[in-house]
Amino acid sequence: MVPILTYHSVGTLNPILDTPIEKFEQHLKSFAESGYKAITASRLVQLMKAKSTLPEKTFVLTFDDGYRTFHTEAWPLLKKYGFNATVFLITDFCGKDNQWVGQPASVPKAPLLTWSEVEELAKQGCEFGGHTLSHRPLSTLSGEKLVDELVQSKAKIMEVTGQDASIFAYPYGDTSGDAINAVRQHYDGAVSTDLGICGLNSDKYLLPRIDSYYLTQEWIDNLEKPWFPPYLGFRQALRRVKRVFQPDWQPDEYRDANKN
Ligand SMILES: [Zn+2]
Repeated sequence: MVPILTYHSVGTLNPILDTPIEKFEQHLKSFAESGYKAITASRLVQLMKAKSTLPEKTFVLTFDDGYRTFHTEAWPLLKKYGFNATVFLITDFCGKDNQWVGQPASVPKAPLLTWSEVEELAKQGCEFGGHTLSHRPLSTLSGEKLVDELVQSKAKIMEVTGQDASIFAYPYGDTSGDAINAVRQHYDGAVSTDLGICGLNSDKYLLPRIDSYYLTQEWIDNLEKPWFPPYLGFRQALRRVKRVFQPDWQPDEYRDANKN
């Protein structure tokens, strides 16, 4: 099984968005010392499609929204430990900041990667994937608007990076049947915000991840224990129940951070 980790920004500016640098480096150090290798999200999906056995001691690092701190803070540390990563970009917001429509007021303003930084990182082997044009929840869109969010953002990433941009991340982890079908038409796979570890039989369009917020040394030590994936499945089921009883809709990726 292959854990996919979710990060947003890495740094010390604000507690909601940022994984502190020390914590981030501790994660990388622990994985490196345990003998893990990092593969990109697209490589993982290729292996799943080929139905080959998933490699052991392998993980995927993903970064949602394309914060500028990826370039300044995260990438130098990733290189230090020899790990690659997949960064999901909101293409209408590259070079701007994270104040898109629907961003909770509690989330502080923070700059996003510029296209020239994206180009430079791509040349160094960093992978980029789609996270729409505007970060709208996909369940609120249909028809042409939905398709534009997927197709135009992918085309822009392909143009700048020369990569396939074959993997997608749902804004807020929000999906619908229509949204998943549309993503299926244009991408090889997609990551969700569901908690879990990816296996050969995981849904390629709803790949579970582990939010870095929860990732402790104990979790890293237990990743390969047979009881650990079922334990995460139990935690994910609890989250679903809580969501039913929580009337105020809030994006998954920020709700968890706000609550804890
Ligand atoms: Zn996002």
